[in-house]
Amino acid sequence: MDMSFSSEQLAFRDEVREWIAGAMPDEMKRKADDGAVFENTESLAWHRILHEKGWVAPDWPVEVGGPGWDSARRFIFQEELLRANTPALSPFGLTMVGPLLIQYGSEEQQQRFLPPILSGEEIWCQGYSEPNAGSDLAALQLRAEKDGDDYVLNGQKTWTTYAQYADWIFLLCRTSSEGKRQEGISFLLADVKNTPGITVKPFLTTGGTYAFSETWFKDARVPQRYRVGPENGGWSMAKALLGHERTAIGGVSESGRWLQTLKRIARETPVGRGTLLDDPAFRRRIARLEMRHRAVSMVNLRTLAAAELGRAPGAESSILKLVGTEIFQEITELCMDALGHDSLGWIDSDPVALPERERFVASQFNYLRATTIYGGSNEVQRNVIAKQILGLPSAPPARKAS
Ligand SMILES: Cc1cc2nc3c(=O)[nH]c(=O)nc-3n(C[C@H](O)[C@H](O)[C@H](O)COP(=O)(O)OP(=O)(O)OC[C@H]3O[C@@H](n4cnc5c(N)ncnc54)[C@H](O)[C@@H]3O)c2cc1C
Repeated sequence: MDMSFSSEQLAFRDEVREWIAGAMPDEMKRKADDGAVFENTESLAWHRILHEKGWVAPDWPVEVGGPGWDSARRFIFQEELLRANTPALSPFGLTMVGPLLIQYGSEEQQQRFLPPILSGEEIWCQGYSEPNAGSDLAALQLRAEKDGDDYVLNGQKTWTTYAQYADWIFLLCRTSSEGKRQEGISFLLADVKNTPGITVKPFLTTGGTYAFSETWFKDARVPQRYRVGPENGGWSMAKALLGHERTAIGGVSESGRWLQTLKRIARETPVGRGTLLDDPAFRRRIARLEMRHRAVSMVNLRTLAAAELGRAPGAESSILKLVGTEIFQEITELCMDALGHDSLGWIDSDPVALPERERFVASQFNYLRATTIYGGSNEVQRNVIAKQILGLPSAPPARKAS
């Protein structure tokens, strides 16, 4: 695969780089340079700046508000955002339910929901997991019963990331208990803020944040016109959406940036008369990661190129999720090794004792533990790869102990 950019592509890269440098507010730039983590409000402010420029949804077709870039330009754009360390945008609208609505939504749904996703006026969250339905998603029990023009919802979701800030939730619910479990599921869109009977209860995590909520439904009425796809056809919607989600979670471009951070830390860490980067054993560990990162970047590019031809991400998104998250975790582990005891200073450290960007290494290291769980755990991705790519039969059911 030829990886060099043409002169037009390089000119596009320069245009994007220059625009980002001019468009980012000074305070945002300062935080970006320090490698700090952005608040939700800053992420939303950046969303609006990108929207005004027409660059907020690089992967959307031009008819619904995308900029009309090919895969190379989309790749360059993402690289430039990462290079400038701009705030990450909420993925639930732009990269999850938005693309799904473009593919499967009715005309009315597209007109109602796509513009406020683009402008950032309406924020979304994802209601898939339940207390007894995580990896085994088909076990979900949130019930939706028809009554007039509505569904009446009763049950609970959990792990709903940032539901307390969301206006809308896309969710999976049980509309039938007949036949196979997967065949009784529907995909609905619900107004979290204004629907009586929907209650969002944020809970405290060990990281000291309120990033997740339990979302409760008690006789909550959701219009049937907000069902995406056919009734009991929600499983196909869920699978299509998970393909987009997994490709993004792989974080291939972002981990590339952390590889640079790793090298910088190693270069700035004195060992004997040189630095950690001169140490052959440490260099070998970096080189090994870099080679694996290059390989997964190729798979990422292939997925982007396939998307340009109209092919939705399939089982290869499981490879990207599995390998991408493992490499990313290993990179931050090596950053922690390189920092030694300095890595122990985290959010509570004396701000003077450590540069801010070093404090965020530990924060990132901790956060990344979750990436091998959400979007379908990595063990489950191994099952998908075994079945759909390697063609192996499903594992036999576990034998009961006698
Ligand atoms: C940071 C974070 C954010 C999240 N955000 C959301 C969100 O916004 N919306 C949402 O709906 N959900 C969200 N989730 C939930 C997430 O999707 C689930 O945690 C995930 O699907 C795993 O389900 P579980 O936690 O119930 O674990 P379980 O399914 O109980 O799994 C427990 C362990 O068993 C393993 N396991 C399970 N089944 C198999 C199998 N068949 N083969 C091999 N191993 C298996 C798993 O890999 C795991 O190690 C989030 C989770 C996290 C950690």
